[in-house]
Amino acid sequence: MAVSLDISHGNAAPAIGVAPAVTPAKPSLVGMSREELGDALRAVGVADKQVRMRVAQLWHWIYVRGFTEFDHMTNVSKELRTTLAHVYSMTRPEIVAEQISVDGTRKWLMRFPPRGAGRPVDIETVYIPEEGRGTLCVSSQVGCTLTCTFCHTGTQKLVRNLTSEEIIMQIMVARDRLGDFPDIDTPQGFSVPSEGRLVSNVVMMGMGEPLYNFDEVKKALLIASDGDGLSLSRRRITLSTSGVVPMIARTGEEIGCMLAISLHAVRDDLRDVLVPINKKYPLAELLEACRTYPGVSNARRITFEYVMLKGVNDSIADAKKLVKLLEGIPAKINLIPFNPWPGSDYECSDWEQIEVFAEVVNRAGYASPIRTPRGRDILAACGQLKSESERMKRKDREALEAASGAAG
Ligand code: SAH
Ligand code: SF4
Repeated sequence: MAVSLDISHGNAAPAIGVAPAVTPAKPSLVGMSREELGDALRAVGVADKQVRMRVAQLWHWIYVRGFTEFDHMTNVSKELRTTLAHVYSMTRPEIVAEQISVDGTRKWLMRFPPRGAGRPVDIETVYIPEEGRGTLCVSSQVGCTLTCTFCHTGTQKLVRNLTSEEIIMQIMVARDRLGDFPDIDTPQGFSVPSEGRLVSNVVMMGMGEPLYNFDEVKKALLIASDGDGLSLSRRRITLSTSGVVPMIARTGEEIGCMLAISLHAVRDDLRDVLVPINKKYPLAELLEACRTYPGVSNARRITFEYVMLKGVNDSIADAKKLVKLLEGIPAKINLIPFNPWPGSDYECSDWEQIEVFAEVVNRAGYASPIRTPRGRDILAACGQLKSESERMKRKDREALEAASGAAG
């Protein structure tokens, strides 16, 4: 949970003679759903009949304006502002590092405070500017329970799931750092243009498997796509999964975003090795879930990601099989040149081989499929993310992994 509305051990006065051992951080309003925000306001005494209006005001200041100080909220009474500031926060995480690649890609390392008895965690978020759009690559977990053999994140054990606050904060920080929120003195009643924002697209392709953290990812993406807030259209939000089949339909029904599948192999025996979750949900089941993905159409295609590994999955026969496998599914194919990382066992396919492979795919009607690697010099490209966070205790990790398995 991102926030706890139980403020009794937080900022409320402790019972006489009982001093709290540590003062926990104030709950953040960022990452709460509208309902939770309403509850948070009721908890500090806002009358029921005012809650809707107050939620709308706060939502605007937080998500349209990007404010981090209650004091700037000019249409909220001074008294309420003081109470809110006393009990809640909107504080951003610490930015431990900001790197800018020669190609303009940016990577932030953000540090979030501990949850419960845990330790602070570091999360990487990457911004990729392109002609006419800017894509933010957002993380959903610290580490990953899955162990795809070509992925750097897969070598880091799962530390923990991110909360909706931590997921949405990645977008807030990017907008802060890029100057993508309006100036503080912009009049309150203005409308923000939906075009021309620096962060125009979000991809859940950072660290972690988003469908093993479904509830928090869903909450965050519903906030991100709220038309009176961050206003990212659902068509501009893409969730990438390694293939957690039982959660795919719910992704379409409950989030309504675009879907990407980390395919990477066209035969079960090879996919079992590259993307081991395939042993649980083999190709036939995965492709059936894609065929029936809610809202899929030629205008809303599923993206299939295919990492090009030299001598492993890059033959012409593989390309032909790929095209055959995707028959009947409205699909886009992204060929991703393998991004090496220290200690990786694979090599990227030769460029000529990628072109030959792409040619087969092109001839079958899939356009411009090779994704240029971005931000390689700052280890910001796909699959290179891995934070140096502390690992969680083995017992806790196993419990989380068991829970994730149950969800899948
Ligand atoms: N866990 C999710 C989302 C994060 S990974 C998933 O697996 O889909 C984002 C994309 O980067 C995935 O398609 C992943 O397979 C790919 N990727 C991982 N390691 C890579 C590497 N070293 N080079 C290129 N792409 C990689
Ligand atoms: Fe996890 Fe995705 Fe990396 Fe596989 S590719 S280890 S699912 S982050």
